[in-house]
Amino acid sequence: VRQLTQWLYHHNCRSIDEMLNLSKSLRDQLAAEFTLHIPECVRVLGSEDTTRKYLFRIGGGDLIETVLIPASLSFDGERSDRMTLCVSSQVGCAYGCKFCASGLDGFKRNLTTAEIVSQVLEVMHLSGKRIGNLVFMGMGEPMANYDAVMQAIIILNAHWGCNIGARHITVSTSGLVPRIRDMADQPLQIRLAISLHGATDEVRNQIMPVNQRYPLAELFDACDYYVSHKKQKIFFEFILIKGVNDDPAHARVLARHAKRLNSKVNLIPYNRVDGLDWERPGQETQEAFLTVLRSSGVVATLRREKGHDIDAACGQLRRQTLQSA
Ligand code: SAH
Ligand code: SF4
Repeated sequence: VRQLTQWLYHHNCRSIDEMLNLSKSLRDQLAAEFTLHIPECVRVLGSEDTTRKYLFRIGGGDLIETVLIPASLSFDGERSDRMTLCVSSQVGCAYGCKFCASGLDGFKRNLTTAEIVSQVLEVMHLSGKRIGNLVFMGMGEPMANYDAVMQAIIILNAHWGCNIGARHITVSTSGLVPRIRDMADQPLQIRLAISLHGATDEVRNQIMPVNQRYPLAELFDACDYYVSHKKQKIFFEFILIKGVNDDPAHARVLARHAKRLNSKVNLIPYNRVDGLDWERPGQETQEAFLTVLRSSGVVATLRREKGHDIDAACGQLRRQTLQSA
């Protein structure tokens, strides 16, 4: 087993025949019973700042997106020379957030553990880069595919696997409260990001249907539970959408919650999606929102993101490709 995992995860081996320190008869037996599913890369888009977006065709012909982000642009803004990889957990998404391309065509299916892990292996193979940080912020709601995602994380984290530190793996959720509690109860020190995007139920109900099922009070309760069990900071992601959630009054409410939970806020200017009306606010509004948070003592960053020119928000590349096919 040790030899096998070395071939699979350390040498990123492409076929069972390459596993030369296994006997021929064992290789034949393995080849008869197992297949190495290597996702087919159908498009790569790279932008000048080297954010690269891969469109993969996986089993059954489904398309998924995986995005490689240089350290300087990485999710939590921490300085390091490690690349961040943003992986998908589902084909499509059932949660239908109003700003997100992944949900526009509904949900198709869960990814398997192998399909999640192989995104990491294949991008390492294609790019020649080591992956230091992993974020489940691609297509799909990882908490709705909890078992496969957790199994993948075990492989990605293990020293016999991809050896990515648990603290460098972040699961992002639109707020599936019971799964947040499950994640708090499991032993790995992986990180949790909440896609908040609205500081009040009124605003959040408008843009995220999941808020009707798990309103903010329940969501924040689950966050409390997580923080007290994990002794770890949570991240809040907050997309700024012009005229919807970008008012300084919203920033003050957000600051109150973030402060109480000692969580960090990542502000993300809305990325335009074809077929949706919304726009990003101007630079001044973005900076003003950030200032309110910071002057309340909240640790916050504003992503002056660079993926715009390659439609780096999740689900957009797949959608264009499906529509032009
Ligand atoms: N389903 C999970 C994981 C997907 S990540 C979740 O919702 O958390 C989804 C993240 O992608 C959002 O929180 C947001 O940060 C980003 N995103 C999606 N659509 C976007 C858009 N149009 N503009 C900017 N960011 C977007
Ligand atoms: Fe699904 Fe997350 Fe997009 Fe909402 S933001 S539709 S939960 S992928």
